[in-house]
Amino acid sequence: MLFGDVYASAARRFLVIAMLICIISARIVSSLQVMEFSHSPFLLYSDGQGHIFEDTTLYSVGRAGWDAMPIPDDEWIPLPDGGNLYELPGRKGIGIDVRTGAMRLCEKGDAVAAFIPPAHTGFYLSAYETMPDAPTLPLFCYTAVGWYKGEFYVPAIRIERDIRQECSGYDADLVKKGVSHIIEAYPHNRLVKHLAENCALTYECPAARNYFLGRWECPIPASPACNANCIGCISFQPESESIVSTQDRLTFTPTAAEIVEYTVPHLETAPYPIVSFGQGCEGEPLLVWETIREAIIEIRKHTSKGSININTNGSRPDAVEHLMKAGLNSIRVSMNSTQPELYTKYYRPNNYEFADLVTSLKTVKKYGGWTSINYFVFPGITDSVAEFESLCALITDTKLDMIQWRNFNIDPDWYMGKMNILELGDTLGMKQMLELIREEFPDLKFGYYNPPIERMANYENDFAH
Ligand code: SF4
Repeated sequence: MLFGDVYASAARRFLVIAMLICIISARIVSSLQVMEFSHSPFLLYSDGQGHIFEDTTLYSVGRAGWDAMPIPDDEWIPLPDGGNLYELPGRKGIGIDVRTGAMRLCEKGDAVAAFIPPAHTGFYLSAYETMPDAPTLPLFCYTAVGWYKGEFYVPAIRIERDIRQECSGYDADLVKKGVSHIIEAYPHNRLVKHLAENCALTYECPAARNYFLGRWECPIPASPACNANCIGCISFQPESESIVSTQDRLTFTPTAAEIVEYTVPHLETAPYPIVSFGQGCEGEPLLVWETIREAIIEIRKHTSKGSININTNGSRPDAVEHLMKAGLNSIRVSMNSTQPELYTKYYRPNNYEFADLVTSLKTVKKYGGWTSINYFVFPGITDSVAEFESLCALITDTKLDMIQWRNFNIDPDWYMGKMNILELGDTLGMKQMLELIREEFPDLKFGYYNPPIERMANYENDFAH
């Protein structure tokens, strides 16, 4: 369900499993600085053994939809701290020949893409040509990347100032100490055990690690089942598929008592506390809304601090209404597109439709709650004119509070093929799309995470243009 919060940890897991990734650390920077280049960054290629080189005969370009295109200088930023590089087997990078100015393939090795860390939104995908027999790429984002004067650069923006999932903010020893302490405090709680052993220690889920560090947003996985069949589901993939899910799904439904036991102390003691249903290692939390309602009512008997959030596919407005009456504070509804046709092709929902998501968002507003969408950014589709118009209509219709602009973790060719997208209409460019939405809806918040209740009242947009 929650792509962004798990993908850093999932990336680490994939490294161990498939050995396709070469990790290269980079430094932290401000995303708002405008780079001045004497030429475009050079294209990168890999020898397939984890060694990455620059090709000084080619400039790096980006991809939107099916098309490769030059990237404007002012859209590049140095690869942020926590960013990684991927080598892409069976794919040849596309670049602009520095001598002729024509686009051509790099034949020296495999194409390379970047993983950009949470709080950042990419503007272009990596541009490459996929050879026959190339394996499907696992469920991560594949942002364009280049090399300029000793540094890696990516076309992206820091969309959120919050440091809650900053790579440098995690001390593995402190996480382990937190796990020991919490397990000792709640020895019979299955959910705490799941969060400790699977989420924090195995997947290194940033949200779970923050919980064991006693801070910010605390995850509450609750549902083993789902009522959608997303093409890129990170917690379940049929065996017939060419990819595997990056998380193992929760196998039990916790009791309300198990939820209340560890979330009340978190709300009482953590700084800027949020407790959030709907995590990457579960199905759809609204399917267990009765348990969630019971837990919310019980939590609020013990503490009025912090906020209670749900990350969801938004499929059950009736359940959302029950939860709002019980004391839910905010909702984040995930979507790959605001166009019902594209949404349905990707989510393949059972017994609900896009209109239900809209009703869920409106329901939360009706009860005075905070609404966000978890918007999967896929350059070429997200910034199409059709998507822009449909997003504007959704914002107007629902009086949406916030868009969390998250990079879509999926093999671009596989996604577009599965969706049977052959032609795309005109596109705006992701940067311009952000600017136009900002102009059109000055009160709408941009970000990457669910804001704590203290910030909702006075949320300052980090995005500038
Ligand atoms: S299939 Fe269900 S659990 Fe998987 S991503 Fe879609 S909504 Fe989330």
